[in-house]
Amino acid sequence: MGQQYKKNDLVTVSIEDMGTEGEGIGKLAGFTLFVKDAVVGDVVEAKITKAKKQYAYARLERLLSASPFRTSPRCPHYRQCGGCQLQALDYARQLEFKQQKVINNLVRIGGFDRSEIHRIMEPIIGMEEPYRYRNKAQYPVGTDREGHVVTGFYAGRTHTIIPSTECFLGAEENRAILEIIIAHMEKYHISPYDETTGKGLVRHILIRKGFSTGEIMVCVVINGGCGRKGFSGKEEYIPRQSALLSDLSVIKGMTSVSVSINTGKTNVIMGKEIHTIWGSPVIHDMIHVRDMRRDGFPRTGQKLTFAISPLSFYQVNPMQTEKLYSLALEYAGLTGQEVLWDLYCGIGTISLFLASKARQVCGVEIIPQAVHDARENARENGISNAFFYEGKAEEVLPAFYADNQDNQHSDLLHPDVIVVDPPRKGCDSACLRTMIEMRPERVIYVSCDSATLARDLRILCDGGYKVEKVRAVDQFGHTVHVETVCCLQRKGS
Ligand code: SAH
Repeated sequence: MGQQYKKNDLVTVSIEDMGTEGEGIGKLAGFTLFVKDAVVGDVVEAKITKAKKQYAYARLERLLSASPFRTSPRCPHYRQCGGCQLQALDYARQLEFKQQKVINNLVRIGGFDRSEIHRIMEPIIGMEEPYRYRNKAQYPVGTDREGHVVTGFYAGRTHTIIPSTECFLGAEENRAILEIIIAHMEKYHISPYDETTGKGLVRHILIRKGFSTGEIMVCVVINGGCGRKGFSGKEEYIPRQSALLSDLSVIKGMTSVSVSINTGKTNVIMGKEIHTIWGSPVIHDMIHVRDMRRDGFPRTGQKLTFAISPLSFYQVNPMQTEKLYSLALEYAGLTGQEVLWDLYCGIGTISLFLASKARQVCGVEIIPQAVHDARENARENGISNAFFYEGKAEEVLPAFYADNQDNQHSDLLHPDVIVVDPPRKGCDSACLRTMIEMRPERVIYVSCDSATLARDLRILCDGGYKVEKVRAVDQFGHTVHVETVCCLQRKGS
């Protein structure tokens, strides 16, 4: 047994590895330290924040020798913010970290053989420019100690707002938009929402940008209406709304301004009720198909357009999304004859890509507005072979399978391919069971959490599938998150 450590002890340690949350890992005579803000290759003085028998959490106090993989973070707030965990790590090394994270989860959680995973795993697809990639930002609004209106971000795991109008992952226009809204609130004494009292008007500001169209959407989340009528006799949600709108309309690309009403005492940012107060209720973005077998993944010319409303899910990194979807499409190996399911389909993005290369696609999605958007998107892109069911994948799929047992001609009962793209918690076991019963030739699993991916792949493999290909795509540079696409083939077919 090594020495015992306690809270506030200062220790010197070499960082040899990094954990799944981006923390540095070092060892002192068998005792493991998880050091926040340290990167692999550093030698640091760390202060222990929480000590257990065989391990302790610590934070970086002093950098004694900087790792060759260290780089200067662009953001001055990066340590407090917690939104980026890897900004101090060289980007090439970030990619290596993510590739290893996927491999380790597949081995440790999925029980797959490490050498087999190394054989089938393709190289991670990185970003060309890992800053300014996010098309969506959500800023909380609050008051600082002097009583000024501020926007910013919550300091890691707290609800204290660190004032900032700049995030280097987001669009450059965000800053000017936030400054206009802050100035308007100051000028007309409009109060930010106060979480402890439940009073005040403005809670959050959501900004979205269609990178390929330049269209910008602003949605101000408010705690109920302000109850006044404006000059035109229309409902005014924000005091002196028309002045705010005329200031915002000057921003190049401004297409849609709305309010979302959220009166709940909740951490959920958006309220369900949305009112467009200027311009269009949606913005558009285009996604181009890419050739994933050629260097640099060139665009092939084929493109689809999507309407995005404030509440709909849309991938946050459009450049990488093109690669992600094109990879899923390539793994699906379509000839034009296939029948497919696309589970967890959102606004039908992947479904419509698949539909343009297949006979029929059936999407399933839980959020009614997203299903509505998916149908609209199919229509706007002239796609008539994609259908959408509203409901939970784990209910819709088993019910469809049970109800159509007698219908031998239903190709959807035994589709060629099932694509899934679930949220972080992965697929429900009832969904996986039915997928196995449906015996598709291939399953394409798109995942934003490689731990639940590994768990689900194990179930599919025990049910008769074999993982043929795995490839990670970096959708979220500077964070510890990574997206993964897997191709599974039915054994014996
Ligand atoms: N494939 C889409 C969406 C992926 S995000 C895209 O790339 O844009 C995951 C989606 O699953 C979200 O739209 C979410 O609303 C939906 N979802 C979450 N739980 C679900 C469930 N149990 N059944 C069906 N859809 C679900």
